[in-house]
Amino acid sequence: MPLFSTRPIDAKKIRFRVTSNILSGNHRSKPLSHTHPLSMKNCPACQSVTLESTNLEAHLSASQCSSCDGHWVAADDYHAWLENGPQAAAATAAVAVEDSTHAVFCPHCSQLMRKTNVGHDLNFYLDQCPCCHGVWFDQHEWDNLKSKDLHTQVHQMSSAAWQQKARQYSLRSTVRQVYASKFSSTDYSEAERIKNWLERHPQKQDLLSFFAAPA
Ligand SMILES: [Zn+2]
Ligand SMILES: [Zn+2]
Repeated sequence: MPLFSTRPIDAKKIRFRVTSNILSGNHRSKPLSHTHPLSMKNCPACQSVTLESTNLEAHLSASQCSSCDGHWVAADDYHAWLENGPQAAAATAAVAVEDSTHAVFCPHCSQLMRKTNVGHDLNFYLDQCPCCHGVWFDQHEWDNLKSKDLHTQVHQMSSAAWQQKARQYSLRSTVRQVYASKFSSTDYSEAERIKNWLERHPQKQDLLSFFAAPA
């Protein structure tokens, strides 16, 4: 049963979703002492460093590694924060991320975490536990999600629809890099302007035929 829904966030429904998908699942059958305190768990990246309780945002509990500045967020804490109606983040410049490329194991249940493609021109993957659905954020990953106001959509990122879109973003980004290196910056800007105009034009196919026809 998938935890994460692809539907838009509806605060009124979140409690139901949390209750039906998380708390009534395997998690309910485990003793609470198994899930708390997370502060006793070790950093999945540094391994030997113990995570410490903190708040990633107001009302968003997390566990932080003082060495690599990564953050662990449990699924139920994330949904509780969403239920509080977090504010939209102001757009800011992205910060370079040193993404963990090695295997990362869940600090909560020791499962191998899945790499989740974020997309949206953010060149990193989130580590998400397939079992308890907690998420590990390497340093700056949360801030980068906030820079694009994606931090309230983490629960949707493992869905097939999100991953398909993320692959399209990656492909588009690669294609752009290839052509940006072929053209001068002036020509590339002009080509991109024409391409964007063409993409939205109702006579796109006729225009493409016209461009391809002999001058
Ligand atoms: Zn660490
Ligand atoms: Zn887990």
